[in-house]
Amino acid sequence: MLRRADRPDRFIFYKNGTPLRRPVVLLAAIALLSLLLFLLFSGDDGEEERSGAGEMTPNPLDAYLGYASVLPEEKARSEYVEGWILPYKGFEDSLLAVPGMTLASVLEIANGIRDHVDFSKFYAGEALRVWFDDDGRVIRFVYRPNIVTYHTLIRSEKSGKFEYSFVRYPTETRRRIIAGEMQGTLNASLAQRSEVTTWIRQAVNNALEGMISFNTDARNGDTYRILVEEEFYKGRRIPGGRVLYAAYTGKIAGHRETFWYEENDPKSAYNAHYTVDGKALASSGMRLPVDRIHITSTFGYRIHPITGQRHLHNGVDYGGRTGDPVYAVAAGRVASAGFEGANGNKLVIRHIDGTETFYLHLHSFATRAGSTVKAGQIVAKMGNTGRSTGSHLHFGIRRQGKWENPLRIKMIAAPTLTGERLERFKGQMRQIRGLLEKSAAGNG
Ligand SMILES: [Zn+2]
Repeated sequence: MLRRADRPDRFIFYKNGTPLRRPVVLLAAIALLSLLLFLLFSGDDGEEERSGAGEMTPNPLDAYLGYASVLPEEKARSEYVEGWILPYKGFEDSLLAVPGMTLASVLEIANGIRDHVDFSKFYAGEALRVWFDDDGRVIRFVYRPNIVTYHTLIRSEKSGKFEYSFVRYPTETRRRIIAGEMQGTLNASLAQRSEVTTWIRQAVNNALEGMISFNTDARNGDTYRILVEEEFYKGRRIPGGRVLYAAYTGKIAGHRETFWYEENDPKSAYNAHYTVDGKALASSGMRLPVDRIHITSTFGYRIHPITGQRHLHNGVDYGGRTGDPVYAVAAGRVASAGFEGANGNKLVIRHIDGTETFYLHLHSFATRAGSTVKAGQIVAKMGNTGRSTGSHLHFGIRRQGKWENPLRIKMIAAPTLTGERLERFKGQMRQIRGLLEKSAAGNG
C-alpha cells in the first residue's frame, strides 16, 4: 500500500485549510479557483437546480460541483480532496493516489460504483472528489466524468454504508454536417479541421474502416460527408458525441455509407454503425459473450474486490442479471463445463485456431463438455457462483498459454440486424436522412 509520503505530487491536490505542497501546485490551484469563480460569477455555470439557496452563503466549489442542496451542517465538511483519473492508470490506482486515501476505502468506493459505471471507460483527466471526516473516513465521494455528470456516494448515517446517486444535468443537442475532400488520408484531412474533435475523428475512422480499405482504395479528391451529434451545456461542448452518418465517395471505393443504430438501452451490444441493409461494420468474426456491455472490471492489474490484493485480472467482467444469456464468441468445441472453486461454474471453449475462451461464475450450462457450438449460440446463463461479489460474467481469452485482453481483440461484432431490430433501424435511418437534408440546407 502506498503511504502518503510515497505519493507523487504530479497533479493538483488541495484541501481547505491544509497548506499546499509546491508553488507550482499553488499557482495551478489559484488559476483553477479563479476560473471557477469567473465561471460562477459570469453566470456561465451557476446551479439551476439548487434549492434552499437563500438559507446559506453559497460556496463556489459546491455550486461548481452542482449539488442540488447543501445542508448547513454539511457545509462544515464541504472541503474535499481532489484527484483525477491518471494516464494509463485504472480507477483504483488513480483513486489510491488521492492524498489520505486507504486501500480499504478504495475498495469500498470501487464496489459502491461498480454497478453504475463502466470500468472500461475511465479517461485520464476525469475528476475524483473525496470528503473525509476527522477520523480520515470517506464520507462522500464524487466521480465526475464531465461537467454535467455526477456519480455520488454518500455514507448513510443510519447504515454506515455508501448510498449511490446519479445526476446528469440536461444538455442541448446540436447536429452538424462535416463535409470535404480528402487529401493524404481521411484521418489527416479531418485532423486539419479544428471543429472536428479527436473523439469524432476516431469515431469516423472506426465507422468507415469496416467498409473501405483505406490502404488500397483511397485517393486524393475522394469526398466525405459526416453527420455529427454533440451535447452542449451552457455553450460548452461535452466530450464525446456520435457520428449518426458517415459517407465516403471515391474513384475506386465507390459510394459507401453507414448509419448509427441505437436501442433504448444505452449499453445494448447492438448499438453500432450498420450498412443500409443492416449489416454490422465490425469486420471480426468474434461475437460478444453478452447482450449488454456493462464492464465492471477490465483486464490487467487491479485490486481484487474481495481479497484486497493486487493481481492480474486475466479477463473482463460483464455485469448483468442472473439468468442473462451467455453466448459462445466463436464456433468451437466445449473443452470443459463444471464447477471449480473460486471460478464457480466454469465453461471453456476451444476454437479452431487453438484459442480458448473462458466463461466463469455461471449460473448454469446450456451445453456440455465435448459438444460443438456455433458463434452466438447460448452456452450458459450468467450467475454468481464461486468467489464473486455479484452476478456477472468473467470472460477470458487464452492464446498459446497466454492470457490476452479480450477488449483488445476485435470483438465488438454486433450481428446483422433482423426482424424487429431491422425495422427499427430502417425507421432510424429515415430520420437520419431527414436530418441530413435539413442540415444540408444550413451548411456543408
Ligand atoms: Zn473477473
